[in-house]
Amino acid sequence: MTAKIIDGKVISDFFRAEYKRRVDRLASSGIRPGLAVVIVGDDPASQVYVRNKAKACESIGMYSEVHPLPSTTSQAALTAFVETLNARPEIHGILVQLPLPKGLDDRAVIEAIAAEKDVDGFHYANMGALVIDESPYPPCTPYGVMKMLEYEGITIEGKHAVIIGRSNIVGKPQAMLLLKAGATVTVCHSKTQDLPAFCRSADILVAAVGRPNFVEGHWIKPGAVVIDVGINRLPDGKLCGDVDYHSAAEVASAITPVPGGVGPMTITMLLGNTLHAAEATLPNAVGMETRLA
Ligand code: NDP
Repeated sequence: MTAKIIDGKVISDFFRAEYKRRVDRLASSGIRPGLAVVIVGDDPASQVYVRNKAKACESIGMYSEVHPLPSTTSQAALTAFVETLNARPEIHGILVQLPLPKGLDDRAVIEAIAAEKDVDGFHYANMGALVIDESPYPPCTPYGVMKMLEYEGITIEGKHAVIIGRSNIVGKPQAMLLLKAGATVTVCHSKTQDLPAFCRSADILVAAVGRPNFVEGHWIKPGAVVIDVGINRLPDGKLCGDVDYHSAAEVASAITPVPGGVGPMTITMLLGNTLHAAEATLPNAVGMETRLA
């Protein structure tokens, strides 16, 4: 079997076109969705991510602003800055690029963001809402995975979904979203005994490990759908995923490549969440249940 490639760029473009139409509709109500991105310090990779997020906003007519702060910024100053963004009505979404430099507390900063502007979905209120299926802002990467499955018409209900990884930003929220969609979900991690056996029982396998080419083709059930969240840089500078793509593609029915798979979807879902935050300010706002339907 040679797997169908699930093209994250194509799917991302599809959703961006839909979001652009909604941005245009909002303009008739005098609203332009606005995202503020805060970056502390000078980590080059984070700067690239932040620039890409700002560019993506502009590409669909949304407003964005980037706030670079020095790595010497104190916790109190960072919190105070986030609070000024909370108070600005034209800013609908706030994102603080993580991880923060050493000495700053990621969690405290996330909690300083007003929950209704937490478009990353990491605030306690939004994480809690996710657990009871009511999250207004599902975390962008796992939400992007759900949108890819939806776009491809892949049945989730009744399927066994295995997730490798239990991080707060990918593995755990992915489990909640797949559970909501009717999958039977198994979450594996570094303490899991006999990981390949769990993988072999997966109809949908999501790898979010952070280890290059970790999942081998012979771990995969023939016909399974394989979603590779991993982004790893090899010594030669090339990017690869957590799944050994070539051996896996021989066995799977569908697979996401790296790059060009889940990555583009993450930013697109950030746009979607920011747009939703702006739409939620309208008097006749549509609820999240409708949005996820
Ligand atoms: P974390 O490091 O926070 O989590 C990795 C998870 O993998 C942990 O739960 C860990 O288990 C588990 N793990 C590590 N080694 C093993 C092992 N040998 N066997 C089984 N499980 C193992 O990473 P993230 O969730 O933040 O990211 C995962 C990957 O996804 C990374 O490559 C990252 O770059 C990528 N990523 C991609 C995004 C995108 O837009 N496409 C967005 C976010 C992340 P334990 O908890 O026991 O330590």
